[in-house]
Amino acid sequence: MAADKAKKEDKSTTQYSLFFIQRFKGKVLFNVPMSEYTSFRIGGNADVMAFPQDEGDLKDILSFAEAKNFPFYILGAGTNLLVRDGGVRGIVINMSEGFKDIVWQEETKAVVGAGVKLAEVLNVCKEKGLAGLEFSAGIPGTVGGAVLMNAGAHGGEMKDIVEGVEILGKKGQKGFIPNGDLGFSYRKTGLPKGAVVIRAHMRFAKSSAEAVRDKIKEIAEKRKGTGKIAYPNAGSIFKNPEGKFAGRLIEEAGLKGEVSGDAQVSEAHANWIVNTGRARAKDVLALMAIIRDRVYSLKGVVLEPEIKVIGED
Ligand SMILES: Cc1cc2nc3c(=O)[nH]c(=O)nc-3n(C[C@H](O)[C@H](O)[C@H](O)COP(=O)(O)OP(=O)(O)OC[C@H]3O[C@@H](n4cnc5c(N)ncnc54)[C@H](O)[C@@H]3O)c2cc1C
Repeated sequence: MAADKAKKEDKSTTQYSLFFIQRFKGKVLFNVPMSEYTSFRIGGNADVMAFPQDEGDLKDILSFAEAKNFPFYILGAGTNLLVRDGGVRGIVINMSEGFKDIVWQEETKAVVGAGVKLAEVLNVCKEKGLAGLEFSAGIPGTVGGAVLMNAGAHGGEMKDIVEGVEILGKKGQKGFIPNGDLGFSYRKTGLPKGAVVIRAHMRFAKSSAEAVRDKIKEIAEKRKGTGKIAYPNAGSIFKNPEGKFAGRLIEEAGLKGEVSGDAQVSEAHANWIVNTGRARAKDVLALMAIIRDRVYSLKGVVLEPEIKVIGED
């Protein structure tokens, strides 16, 4: 049995290697600990992690995955992600090392690569005195991940500034999806399954450097509590139910500080779970189950996860 498994793994690794050696410009890693690629610092190994440098690389890898029927998963900065302890089968396509361009098409419009960090775009906006993205101050992650999650805070979200996105479909076909067809809703988009965001067209409003700086300061002040959380985490674990705050419900359920292994409900913000040492995904998932059960039985509210959970147990 074990020999069969080893043989199978060896064969698939060889297949991957041959493909990448011949065609791929970017870096390719095998047996990669996902804990090194997630802000939670949790997760088993991914079989393969590929870092496409450009559209050609991405197209090749998507076509390859399609032809071989290999599963793939798109990774940004891994700041909204819990990877299970058994890791990820197939190819993790890491978008954070390519797609780094910011091209200004007009004074208030930029086409931004999916691998650019939101913070970098915000910095440019600050210098240029462009408003619209201030809500993102303190949100880590890439533009691609932020679009997919419709990331937002303090009354703003990506939906407000994204005019549309350039994508590669899962068969490697290129497309442009305008804002109205992106199916944006609370921390969600309706991007076609398997589509990869390669660039976002972002529209800002003319303002002044001082006004943008002041707004960022105001947001930073509001985030002061969570800003002090020193342990690895993935931001909010659950979405806010309509008209309510998940954090408040969890706190009122008496769960602040609750522990499972090295995972703990943060003392600073009850909707954040922190990894206080060597937490495993199973610890975080157990804590999430406790939270959901307790909040449901005490408050009658079903909490829906905001973080994405992937991989095998
Ligand atoms: C300290 C902290 C604070 C946070 N605060 C906030 C907050 O205030 N508001 C908020 O909304 N979020 C917050 N988050 C969560 C997270 O930062 C955002 O959701 C962020 O936008 C995720 O980007 P990422 O690049 O890390 O995506 P990842 O975590 O890598 O991926 C998230 C999802 O996007 C998909 N994805 C990534 N890139 C692409 C792409 N190019 N094409 C298609 N799909 C893609 C992935 O497959 C996955 O489903 C916080 C997280 C942390 C750790």
